[in-house]
Amino acid sequence: MKVTEHLKQAKQPLFSFEILPPLKGKSIQSIFDGIDPLMEFKPKFVNVTYHREEYIYKERENGLLEKIAIRKRPGTVGICAAIMNKYQVDAVPHLICGGFSKEETENALIDLQFLGIDNVLALRGDSIKTEATFRPHQDGHRYAVELIRQISDMNSGTYMMDDVQLEPTNFCIGAAGYPEKHFEAMNMSTDLQYLKDKVDAGAEYIITQMFFDNEKYFSFVKACREIGIDVPIIPGMKPIKTLDHITFLPKFFKVDFPESLSSELLKCKDNKQVEQLGIEWSIQQSRELKDAGVPCIHYYTMSNSTMVKAIAKEIF
Ligand SMILES: Cc1cc2nc3c(=O)[nH]c(=O)nc-3n(C[C@H](O)[C@H](O)[C@H](O)COP(=O)(O)OP(=O)(O)OC[C@H]3O[C@@H](n4cnc5c(N)ncnc54)[C@H](O)[C@@H]3O)c2cc1C
Repeated sequence: MKVTEHLKQAKQPLFSFEILPPLKGKSIQSIFDGIDPLMEFKPKFVNVTYHREEYIYKERENGLLEKIAIRKRPGTVGICAAIMNKYQVDAVPHLICGGFSKEETENALIDLQFLGIDNVLALRGDSIKTEATFRPHQDGHRYAVELIRQISDMNSGTYMMDDVQLEPTNFCIGAAGYPEKHFEAMNMSTDLQYLKDKVDAGAEYIITQMFFDNEKYFSFVKACREIGIDVPIIPGMKPIKTLDHITFLPKFFKVDFPESLSSELLKCKDNKQVEQLGIEWSIQQSRELKDAGVPCIHYYTMSNSTMVKAIAKEIF
C-alpha cells in the first residue's frame, strides 16, 4: 500500500522508522533484531536507506595505487523485500541519483515493481567523500527533481524508449525536506522553491531532515504552505545518543541544537547521560508534534532500536 494511503486512513499520527542496511558481510538477522522490538508500535511503513559506493586506494605489488569502488552497505532492495515478506508492512526503499545512470534507475524501478514495492523515497544523495561537490553520473540525474520526473514518467507509461507506450508503474513518491535549509542551498527561499518543484514533479509527501527544535518544523511547514506545497510533511526525529553526537550531528546534518538542549548536553559526563537526555528530549518533541496533529512521526534509528523503543512506548 502507498504511504499516502496509510496517511489518509490514519486516525492519529502514525509511527514509522528508517533503518540502514547492515555492513557488507553481516547477516539480515541484524536488521530483524532492530525491527522486532519496534513492531509492537505497528509501523505502517519502514524506510531503508541507500548507500553509495566509496572509493579506496589499494597499493599494488609494483607500488602503484589502485582506485577501487566498494559499497559498504549494499542490499537496500533485498532488505525491503525481506521486510515486506516477514512483517507484512510496507517497505520504502530510498533511491538516489548519485552513481546511477537513468537506464540503471529505470531497471531498479522495474525490479521494485516486480517485488510489489509501491513506494520510493527519491533523493539526490550526497557527494562521495573524495569529491568536494556532488557529481552526477554522466548519464544520470543532477537533482532529486529529475529522478522524481523519471519515476512520474514511468507512472504514466513513459520509459526511456520514448517511442513506445509501456505499462505504467504506480509508485508513490516521497521527497526530502530541510526545516533548517539544505546546506548547499543559497537561502531558505530557493530551497523551498526547489522543494516545490519536487512536489510539482510528482512527490506526494515530504519527510524532513532531523531537527531538535519543533519551532523549526512548524515554521518550515508554514513556509511550505505559503508557497503552495500542500502535501503531507512528515517530521523526522533522531534521538541524540553519544557525547560524539554533540558535534557530529550539527556537523554532518547541518542542524542546530536549541540553547535549552545544548545547556543540558553540556552537563552530561558520559554517553549514558546523553542517551537519557536524548530519549527525554525526543519524547518531549514527539509529544508536542503529536498534539499538533502531524501525519506521522518518522524516527531515524541508525540501526539501534533501543532508544526509539523507549520513545515510542511513551508516544504510540
Ligand atoms: C528523509 C531523508 C532521507 C535520506 N536518505 C538518504 C539515503 O538513503 N541515502 C543517501 O545517500 N542520502 C540520504 N539523504 C541525504 C540526502 O541525499 C542529502 O541531503 C542530499 O545532499 C540532498 O538530497 P535531496 O534529495 O534533498 O536533493 P535535492 O532536492 O536535489 O537538493 C539538493 C540541493 O540542490 C538544490 N537544488 C535542487 N534543485 C535544484 C535546481 N534545479 N537547481 C539548483 N539547485 C537545486 C537544493 O536547494 C539543495 O540545496 C536523506 C535525507 C533525508 C532528509
